[in-house]
Amino acid sequence: METLTEEILTTVIKKRPAISHKGSFGRTVLIGGNTQYGGAIIMSAESCLKSGAGLVTVITAKENHAPLHARLPEVMVLDWHDQAAITASICNADVVLIGPGLGLTNHSLILLKLVLDLQEKQWLVIDGSAISLFAQEKLTLSHPHKTVFTPHQMEWQRLSGIPIVEQNELANRAFQKKLAASIVVKSHRTEIYTNKNIYRCPLGNSAMATGGTGDTLAGMIAGFLAQFPRKDATICAAVYLHSYIGDLLATENYVVLPTTISAALPHYMCYFS
Ligand code: AMP
Ligand code: MG
Repeated sequence: METLTEEILTTVIKKRPAISHKGSFGRTVLIGGNTQYGGAIIMSAESCLKSGAGLVTVITAKENHAPLHARLPEVMVLDWHDQAAITASICNADVVLIGPGLGLTNHSLILLKLVLDLQEKQWLVIDGSAISLFAQEKLTLSHPHKTVFTPHQMEWQRLSGIPIVEQNELANRAFQKKLAASIVVKSHRTEIYTNKNIYRCPLGNSAMATGGTGDTLAGMIAGFLAQFPRKDATICAAVYLHSYIGDLLATENYVVLPTTISAALPHYMCYFS
């Protein structure tokens, strides 16, 4: 297992070329946020946008459209019952994130199956309830090498069948190999299992233990994959920067709100580029 260092940030985060436009930094589509958990997808959209994704489209329940527009006017919004528009936007995307606040309803499952069916060139980030649904319905991936799961330990237990107390490098690696996707196993010390290697993030702190921190990380991973080379280092850099900012904020804050991490992103993206 390789322990990540600050070097991962300067390796991955690059100055933006002068000759560029919003399409140069990737099209992301984020799916989630039911009537109860609208905040989750709003937090993912915020971190995705503020990590530099060129275009962010959110597919969510109608109730979330006005608050999302009010908070993030840069983001496009589609109704999650408009199947034709959803299909077109997924087909056009570079990265799709599904799961934050998605819930476990029949409609959530329809959306997840649609995304899995449509995956071709797109990278896919599967988070939150989409992980639980994937496990529960025994779904399969057609492009595991372009897929990243971001479970916390309980979601990883659901997906892998490995009880939390038995989650260790050997057991996690064995199940990751079966899936052949990258897995970000989130805990107080997050580990990243890819097809090539295993990485450990040495940063992060208990001030980050609050609702929405994982949604923010998922949005960052999608944002990073949208604009930087789609490989292991890019996933690792998103995980590292999330905890790096969390640690800096924790020196002066009892609790680190996920939206405060997002607010700091443009500054630190610039600093490490
Ligand atoms: P989620 O449960 O999906 O919101 O994800 C939780 C996020 O917060 C992950 O990125 C964790 O690594 C991070 N986190 C939660 N608790 C801690 C902790 N005690 N120390 C470090 N990171 C934490
Ligand atoms: Mg989560």
